[in-house]
Amino acid sequence: MEGLFINGEYVASTSGQAMEVENPATEDVIAEVPDASAEDVDRAVEAARRAQREWKRLDHLARAEMLHECAAGLERDGDDLAVLLTREGGKTLKENRDEIDWSVTAFRHLAETARANVGRVVGPTKSGQMNFVLNEPLGVVAHIVPYNYPIVLLTWQVAASLAVGNTCIAKPSELTPLTTLRLGEVWSHLPAGVFNVVTASGKGSAMLVEHPRTDMIAFTGSVATGSRIMAAAAPRIKKLLLELGGSDPFIVLDDASLDVAARGAIFAAFLNAGQVCTSAERFYVQDSIYDEFMTLAAERTKELRIGDPMGDVDVGALVSRETREDVERTIEEFTDRGARVAVGGGVPSHLDRGHFFEPTLIEVDDPRQQQLGREIFGPMATFTRVRDLDQAIELANDSDYGLGASIYTSSLETAMRAATELQAGMVWVNDPLKDNDAAPFGGYKMSGLGRELGSEGISAFTQAKHVHIDFAQVPSPEWWFPYERPAIDADPS
Ligand code: NAD
Repeated sequence: MEGLFINGEYVASTSGQAMEVENPATEDVIAEVPDASAEDVDRAVEAARRAQREWKRLDHLARAEMLHECAAGLERDGDDLAVLLTREGGKTLKENRDEIDWSVTAFRHLAETARANVGRVVGPTKSGQMNFVLNEPLGVVAHIVPYNYPIVLLTWQVAASLAVGNTCIAKPSELTPLTTLRLGEVWSHLPAGVFNVVTASGKGSAMLVEHPRTDMIAFTGSVATGSRIMAAAAPRIKKLLLELGGSDPFIVLDDASLDVAARGAIFAAFLNAGQVCTSAERFYVQDSIYDEFMTLAAERTKELRIGDPMGDVDVGALVSRETREDVERTIEEFTDRGARVAVGGGVPSHLDRGHFFEPTLIEVDDPRQQQLGREIFGPMATFTRVRDLDQAIELANDSDYGLGASIYTSSLETAMRAATELQAGMVWVNDPLKDNDAAPFGGYKMSGLGRELGSEGISAFTQAKHVHIDFAQVPSPEWWFPYERPAIDADPS
């Protein structure tokens, strides 16, 4: 069994409980990792706490240099890490290589921008005084992440968290813990205890949330788990960053370049076999071009190569049997409501092992049929006709989620209207799912709380301290008990 990574070394768990890690493309068990005990969690928290004192004292340049070394380690070992990610997660090797590259740029960007986000000076209310605000670290942050992008999602949090002086405990998904565990080796230059990895099921993860000595929980995952975490963090008013699920809309209007829109649509729906928080799920296509667009979208979908994620394919395996079964149930739910499967809808006939599923397009006549009230996390997308932009925006916003939203149009005026009226943390015009390390990432409504990346993603891991200095050292008679003093009788007798 693999070990946990605590205080700069791989150590055995005291739990005696193991969790199997499967290769979703072959269904072979490729490793076992510990399901951490309460004692393991304590050890990790104490190691991180001890390390934090010195880590916080380091100057920003020294921390930035170490973060650049983290980026260099990811670059150096990128090929091996991408292979390991592919074996444990089922995403294609190409997409995993991209994930490592995105992690490298995020580390480099956050290492530098955190140096410029240390606080600010504000004008004093009296001369002879100095007022400034320090952005201070929280302390020990538990970073709990999902299976779909184990490294880049961890990086967006951990790079910012470390840069500002926190120490970290990473808690990967039990489905994809291996690459994260390997980071202990890749980042062996970090001082002991600064970065720790604990593998655990939901129960062990909850211990990190409830632990009295973790100061913040940064969580990326489903709304259901996020909501549980929020409740568990409430008694200690623990600081939270929540990056949750979505049900992203995608609007196509008749002035768009339909060929580009169809390609963009298929990418937005089927990247990582649809297991992306910002996957486009609800497509609203203007009536006048609906048939033409659907023909193009169907052609592009049928062209997708599906199979062994280590090979030259577009779509790999879903992460687990349960995920595939969930997709099958969801398709049934749609067809029971009268929807039609236009493309896909089943397990590819040439793949009898592994959790593969065909990219699936579903058409619905009534847009209300599109609303499941939950996220679809798999290779399927639903399409419906809309009259115009107004109806598209209304339907797009009619959701409890608000992570991303996309629109295809050639009109600048339409693009600007959509950008301001769509209720989402990210709006993409004519180029879906594009992230930028310098811009915030996160959701409106139930899709989350707080932001990653950008200056917002750095502030998320800090708390503000206002420092007030009176360097002239003069009394403040206007504030300090200004009333006239009674005369003191020198000789009361
Ligand atoms: P999940 O919520 O099932 O699990 C996420 C993590 O939470 C895992 O590490 C899991 O072990 C842990 N966990 C489970 N129970 C817990 C508990 N009680 N307390 C603390 N931690 C617990 O999510 P998943 O299935 O791994 O990932 C898919 C979900 O993640 C989707 O909903 C997707 O939209 C979301 N996601 C969001 C973003 C974003 O940035 N907004 C990015 C990627 C994925």
